[in-house]
Amino acid sequence: MTFASLGLSAPLLKAVEKQNYPSPYPIQEKAIPAILAGKDIQGFAQTGSGKTAAFILPILELFLRKKSDRNLHLKVLVLVPTRELAMQISEVCTQFSENLPNSVKNLAIYGGVPLNQQMIKLKHTEILIATPGRLLDMVSTNSIHLGKIEMLVLDEADKMLDMGFQDEMADILRLIPAKRQNILFSATLNTRLDRIKEDVLRQPVIIEIEPEQNQLELIRQTAYMVSPEKKGPLLRYLIKTLEMPQVLVFVSSVRTADNVVSKLQKNGINAAAIHSKKTQSARNSALQNFKSGKTPVMVATDLASRGIDVLSLPFVINYELPRSPKDYIHRIGRTGRAGVSGEAISLITEEEEPHFYVIQKKMGKRVEKIDSSDFDLGKI
Ligand code: AMP
Repeated sequence: MTFASLGLSAPLLKAVEKQNYPSPYPIQEKAIPAILAGKDIQGFAQTGSGKTAAFILPILELFLRKKSDRNLHLKVLVLVPTRELAMQISEVCTQFSENLPNSVKNLAIYGGVPLNQQMIKLKHTEILIATPGRLLDMVSTNSIHLGKIEMLVLDEADKMLDMGFQDEMADILRLIPAKRQNILFSATLNTRLDRIKEDVLRQPVIIEIEPEQNQLELIRQTAYMVSPEKKGPLLRYLIKTLEMPQVLVFVSSVRTADNVVSKLQKNGINAAAIHSKKTQSARNSALQNFKSGKTPVMVATDLASRGIDVLSLPFVINYELPRSPKDYIHRIGRTGRAGVSGEAISLITEEEEPHFYVIQKKMGKRVEKIDSSDFDLGKI
């Protein structure tokens, strides 16, 4: 999937390229065409999923498609819970607007700054990103009119409710035209959202992003290019030079698992294998030792790895690639959990490269490649 296939035009494609986005994230694949088709959206997605570009890009595309003599009044209102999020969205919007033939002005307004400082910047603003309280303050002083809003975005709607903005949101909904397009993003599903959803959304397209996808941002992914016979030495080299305190190594067969473990042990690295040919009690004790840190390296096949419920691993290594991209995401998702970052390393031979390309494409993320041919593997 490419950004061009989602219906974005040249100036926005250029801006996306400038941001180094290789291909759309899942949320962008789903949201961009739906927003361009004028649909309401109900999206469940967290920060890190790429949700900002998922709504900013199609909004700017819709501006681009309008005639150049459009009136410069407020058309899009993005409501957010916090000042930080307002600033962040405004920044993204400015970056993506840079190449547009007719400029689109956006402005972030939030509390904690004198009103008149923001008031003087309002002129010609077409996209306003606001926290609810500050927006109502400015409406009450007549500096903002919401009567011509065509699109409403509620970002992190669940957080806005958690922060007690329920009444403010209801007041704002009364001030904007009933006929408009609506986009609602929330990280969680909660019953308090139901009222807002009913009040705001009309036959929305529902977009849910798998939690694994959300984690991807927290995971540093690298691929070491290596010849097949150097995989073992490279594995040892990486475990030692990166001083890995705990690492889960994935292989595709029972035989490779045993081989890798015996090589590691011969080279003084404490490792254990977990796979279907081991007895349950052997697996349990291997797991126990891995969790407690006694055995820092666990070598596992995909199936056996399901039982490894270590909350967040600092390192995962793909000694061999899994067949399906889904399994790849599942494997690397064992690191970078619960807001803690982690590192996923893949050892890739020339033969595995085309398959790795397919995995990256499915994942919507490009992985940094490192050539290992100059490493002094013999010294370890
Ligand atoms: P967000 O969830 O909107 O806060 O975005 C999270 C991060 O992902 C930001 O740093 C974006 O710049 C980045 N990002 C968004 N979309 C893509 C993409 N398609 N490819 C690579 N990075 C992206």
